[in-house]
Amino acid sequence: MTQRAYNFNAGPSALPVEVLENAQQQLINFRDSGMSIMEMSHRSAIFDEVHNEAIARLKKLYAIPENYEVLFLQGGASLQFTMIPMNFLQADKQASYIMTGAWSEKAFKEAKFFGTPVQVASTKENKYRNIPALEDIQFGADDAYVHLTSNNTIYGTQWKEFPETGNVPLIADMSSDILSKPVDISKFGIIYAGAQKNLGPSGVTVVIIRKDLLEKENANVPTMLKYTTHADSNSLYNTPPTFGIYMLGEVLKWVEEKGGVEAIAKHNEAKAKVIYDAIDNSNGFYTGHATPESRSLMNITFRVADEELEKQLLAEAKAAGFVGLNGHRSVGGCRASTYNAVPLEACEALRDFMVEFQNKNQ
Ligand SMILES: *Cc1c(COP(=O)(O)O)cnc(C)c1O
Repeated sequence: MTQRAYNFNAGPSALPVEVLENAQQQLINFRDSGMSIMEMSHRSAIFDEVHNEAIARLKKLYAIPENYEVLFLQGGASLQFTMIPMNFLQADKQASYIMTGAWSEKAFKEAKFFGTPVQVASTKENKYRNIPALEDIQFGADDAYVHLTSNNTIYGTQWKEFPETGNVPLIADMSSDILSKPVDISKFGIIYAGAQKNLGPSGVTVVIIRKDLLEKENANVPTMLKYTTHADSNSLYNTPPTFGIYMLGEVLKWVEEKGGVEAIAKHNEAKAKVIYDAIDNSNGFYTGHATPESRSLMNITFRVADEELEKQLLAEAKAAGFVGLNGHRSVGGCRASTYNAVPLEACEALRDFMVEFQNKNQ
C-alpha cells in the first residue's frame, strides 16, 4: 500500500482505509453483477439491498426510534438551511436560531426568505469561542422550531448538552459531529448532516426526521423540496447518489466493526485529548480558540502565539506530510479535524510534531 497522508481535512475528509480498500476490491464486479455499483439501476434488487441496508444500519447504530424516518437527500447541509424554513416556518410564526458560528449564520439567512427567524442567543461577540449557556437561551413556546449547529466546524466548538424545547421541535445541523458520540435522538425533530465529514463521500445528505413533522409541512412547496416526497418513496423518488449511499453503508459497517458509536466516542475523546494536551501543556506557545468547556472533539482550532512562527509551523507540517491544518479562511490559525475515521496514530504524530516544533522554536 502506498503511504497514506496524515489527513486532518475539515471536509471532505478522511475515510477509513479499510472502507477504501474494500470499495476498491468490489469496484469492478459488485456482488457478482458484472458491473460496479455506479453502473446499475437505482431500481435494481442489488442497489435496493445496499440502500435499505444503509438505512437499517444507521437506525440501529444511532438508536433511532421507530417514529423517525431516515432520508438520503442531495444538495448538502446547505440545502437543508433552505428546505427547513420552506417546509416548517409558517408565515405567522417565528423560528428561533441559536448562533454559534458561520453555519448558523447561513442557516439563519435562508430562513428570512420564508418568515421571521429570530436570533435567541449568539456568541458572535466572543468570536464564537463558546456555546451559550442553556439558561441563556430563551425561545418562544409557540415557535415553529428551534435551530442549532451541534458542532461548529470552523470555530471548533461543540454542544455538550442540548436545550429542552418541549413541544417546539429542536432542529440540529450535525454535519460535523453526526455519529461521533451517542445522542438522544428523541430530543430532536430533525437532525441533518452532509455526509462528507463523518459518514462518507460528499453527495449524500442524511436527514433524520420525526414522522409527525411530515404532516405539518407547508403545502405550497415544489415536489423535490418537500420531505414527504422523499419519505413516501424511501428516498428513491428520483435517482439518488448511488455510489455515495453505498460508501455511507460501508462506513456504517466500519463503525459497527469498531464497536459502535460508544466505542467511537471514546476513541474520539482520546484522539482529541492528545492534541488539546499539546496545546494546554505548551505554556502559551499554542492557544486554543474555543473556551475549554465548549471545545469540539471534531475540530481542534488553535493559534501559535507568534504569527511568523504560525506560518512556519503550517509550512513545516505540510512538508512533514500533515494535510489540512490551515484554519478556515475566515478565521485563520490552525485547525486539526479529527473526525471518526482519523486514526489515533495521526493525532499522536501531530502531537509529536507540535511538541518538537515548540522545543525548537521557543
Ligand atoms: C460542512 C458543513 C456544512 C455545509 O455542508 P454542505 O454539505 O457543503 O452543504 C454545513 N454545516 C456544517 C456544520 C458543516 O460542517
